[in-house]
Amino acid sequence: MMKDPICGMMVDEKKTSLKSEHEGQTFYFCSASCKRKFDSDPHRYGHLRA
Ligand SMILES: [Zn+2]
Repeated sequence: MMKDPICGMMVDEKKTSLKSEHEGQTFYFCSASCKRKFDSDPHRYGHLRA
């Protein structure tokens, strides 16, 4: 399971196709709106690792 960096939900990376890469790391999202938010500002969200 991976953490959705936008909303903090745990996402099963094997089941979702909603993912984005930022600086070599892959991020997974619970919904298209979370992905869109990340993609609009990946630098802001892409460094928040819990
Ligand atoms: Zn989310």
